[in-house]
Amino acid sequence: MYNKETQAVHSGTQFDEKTQGTNTPIYTSTAIGYLDSELTYPRYFNTKNQLAVAAKIAALENAETGMVFSSGMAAITSTLLTFLKAGDHIIFQKGLYGGTFNWCNSELQKFGIKFTIAEGNSSADFEKALQTNTKIIYIETPSNPLLKITDIEATAKFAQTNKLISVIDNTFASPVNQNPIDFSIGLVIHSATKYLGGHSDICAGAVVGSKNLISQIIPTALNFGGSLDAQTCYLLERSIKTLFVRVNQQNKNAQQIAEFLTVHPKIKNVFYPGLKSSPEHKIAKKQMKGFGGMLSFELKTDNIIDFQKNLKLIKPAVSLGGVDTIINAPTLTSHRHVPDKEKQKEGITDKILRLSVGIENVEDLIEDLEKALNNCKK
Ligand code: PLP
Repeated sequence: MYNKETQAVHSGTQFDEKTQGTNTPIYTSTAIGYLDSELTYPRYFNTKNQLAVAAKIAALENAETGMVFSSGMAAITSTLLTFLKAGDHIIFQKGLYGGTFNWCNSELQKFGIKFTIAEGNSSADFEKALQTNTKIIYIETPSNPLLKITDIEATAKFAQTNKLISVIDNTFASPVNQNPIDFSIGLVIHSATKYLGGHSDICAGAVVGSKNLISQIIPTALNFGGSLDAQTCYLLERSIKTLFVRVNQQNKNAQQIAEFLTVHPKIKNVFYPGLKSSPEHKIAKKQMKGFGGMLSFELKTDNIIDFQKNLKLIKPAVSLGGVDTIINAPTLTSHRHVPDKEKQKEGITDKILRLSVGIENVEDLIEDLEKALNNCKK
């Protein structure tokens, strides 16, 4: 088997027989002949472009197979609603992407599905939340936005002991830095809008896992309809070819920026699992190959808007995982609909900023941050 960097370029890609070209052709038809082949239709998750990119992501995650969706949320919701029915219960770790939190908080009760957001992210916290009708344990590590690390192996063991399906949101790590299936996690989800897409220009999602689990998701997912079109599948496939080059650079840049911010007098806290001083470092080292391009930090000043406006190179923008470095305040973006009480519980304050580190020269990025910090009043 080829190494991962090679698989990122070649796995799944369908050789273009007509031109002997290197890339999967974009098959635009949604009206596809059916007499001599299996019924194929974009919403059935089985077109050539969908299968090509899903196979690439599955290969990078050491999964048997996978599916691609029109967003990360479509992947999350279609996956969870496949395995949950009225009367079932699901445990979520504490510290989730705001959209996932909002979805479970506002939608699950309509389906008669019970959920518990655990008091933390350890197996002891999950044990406390366990009920006789629990079906799924859902984790996100590193978490958005505080980069909390959940022990993946311990979570998989907890799931096996209690006969639960384990699901992880692996968006922040990307398959370059973390492969949860190696630790026996059942299903791995990505917002492919982020690192897999990598250029802040597509919206997509993915789930990968065993043939058994994925084949159960397809019939539910096609009813919900969150499939991905051929052009975006192709863009995603093209982007993944450079995933390792991008993410390895982002890992290096983020580590240097985190170390710079840690010693800056205007910074109160830095959240980055690659810092030796981080309480998350030990578990992160056990399960991550690199610590990722995401970090958050808390300013001492209240002027978080002025600080962002002082930046010249780094853009205040939503989303993450692209080649351009961007910054935002989670309380104003990803977590704005999360009730204040929950944000307080998690330690997401108004002074926290989340940085998605890109592939620029790190010295330029540090200079931009330094100047903006120095220009901050208090
Ligand atoms: N998971 C994480 C960790 C995210 O940060 C996001 C979006 O920001 C999502 C899932 C949802 O992905 P999408 O916006 O592609 O639906």
